Amino acid sequence: MIAPEGLDRLVGALRTRGFRVLGPTVRDGAIVYDDLDSATELPIGWTDKQEAGTYRVERRADEARFGYAVGPHSWKKFLFPPAVRLWRASLNGGPAPTIVEEPLDETPLAFIGVRSCELHAIATQDRVFIGGKHVDRDYAARRDGLFIVAVNCFEPGGTCFCASMGTGPKADAGYDLALTELLEGEHRFLVEAGSDRGLELLAELDGRDAVHADLQAAAASVDAAAQKMGRAMDTHDIRDLLMSNLEHPRWEEVASRCLSCSNCTMVCPTCFCTAVEDETDLSGKEATRTRVWDSCFSVDYSYIHGGSVRPSGRSRYRQWMTHKLGTWFDQFGTSGCVGCGRCITWCPVGIDITEEIGAIRATEGDHATAA
Ligand code: SF4
Ligand code: SF4
Repeated sequence: MIAPEGLDRLVGALRTRGFRVLGPTVRDGAIVYDDLDSATELPIGWTDKQEAGTYRVERRADEARFGYAVGPHSWKKFLFPPAVRLWRASLNGGPAPTIVEEPLDETPLAFIGVRSCELHAIATQDRVFIGGKHVDRDYAARRDGLFIVAVNCFEPGGTCFCASMGTGPKADAGYDLALTELLEGEHRFLVEAGSDRGLELLAELDGRDAVHADLQAAAASVDAAAQKMGRAMDTHDIRDLLMSNLEHPRWEEVASRCLSCSNCTMVCPTCFCTAVEDETDLSGKEATRTRVWDSCFSVDYSYIHGGSVRPSGRSRYRQWMTHKLGTWFDQFGTSGCVGCGRCITWCPVGIDITEEIGAIRATEGDHATAA
C-alpha cells in the first residue's frame, strides 16, 4: 500500500530509469495524456461527465488522482502516432534519388493510468502491428520495453460498457504495476506487480504490506464499478448478427444522422487505418513520405481506380461497424471494440454504437439476409 505521495516516487523512479513518463493531466477542458514531470500534474480532484455527444470535466469533492473514466486521447497516439515520417529522398546530382529511412524513436515509454479497456486496446493493436507476418517497425520500436502502470476503474463514465465486453473494469493482464485507488478512510493505493520489472520498482515505493481490509476494499471498489457502467452491449452472436443484416434499413437511418466526420475512428483506441502523403520541396530535389491516420469514414479512403467503393454514408458506417464488431473476429480472433465509449462521447451528433446494435438486434428477423 502506498500513500498518494508515493505516486511521486513512482514517477521519479521511472524517470531515473530513463523512461519518458506519460499520464493523465487536465488541459484545455479535458483530461488528456501528456508528459508528466511529477505526480502533482495528475488530474487531482477532477472527474469527467460523459454522455452521447457530451463531455465535461468537473471538480470532485475529494483529492482522487484517477477519479474519471477516459478522455479524448488514447495511448495509441504514442504507440501509433497520427503522423510518422517514413522516409526522405533527395536528388544529389546523380540520376537516382538517395532514399533514407526515418530513424526509429526508441525512447522507452512509461504509461501511468492505463485502464483495463485500454490494456485490451493495446493488446488488440499489438495483434495488428506486431502479431502477424508483417511487423510494423515503427510500432515495434515504440512498444518495445513499454512500462505500464494500470489503474482499476472506480468511476466509469456514462458511455462506458467494458463490463459487457469482458474487457474491464479490473486490469487482469498486460501491466507491470496495477493501482487501485481507495478513498474511504485513509486515501491510499493498493499496488500489485504484474512483472519482475514491476516488482523491482514496487520495492522502491516505500509502502506497507496490504492487510485483509485493504484487499476487501479494493475488490469492492471494482465490483461497484462494474455495476455502474453507463451502457451495455449484448455481444451474443454479434458477428453473425451483423453479417446477416447487411441490407437492414437501420444503416440508412444511421447514415441520415452521421456527418462522416471521422471523430469516432480518431478517438477509438483500436482503429488503425492509415494513408500516406508525399511532399516535395519547391526545388523538386527533396521529397518525404509520411504515414497519417485515415478513416473508413472518408470517401477517399476506399478510392480504387475509377472511384470510391463506399460512396454513401450508409456503406461507410456499415463498413466501420461490421468490421469493428464482426469481421475483426475473422482477422484477429477478437472484437475490435473494447467498450471504452469514446466513439459515443465524441460523436458530434451522439450516435451510439450500443444503441445501433440494439436496434438491429431488435428487428433482425424482419430484414435478415444470408451472410
Ligand atoms: S468502437 Fe467505440 S467503444 Fe469500441 S473501442 Fe472504439 S471508441 Fe471505444
Ligand atoms: S463521429 Fe459520429 S458523425 Fe462522425 S463519422 Fe463517427 S458516427 Fe458519423
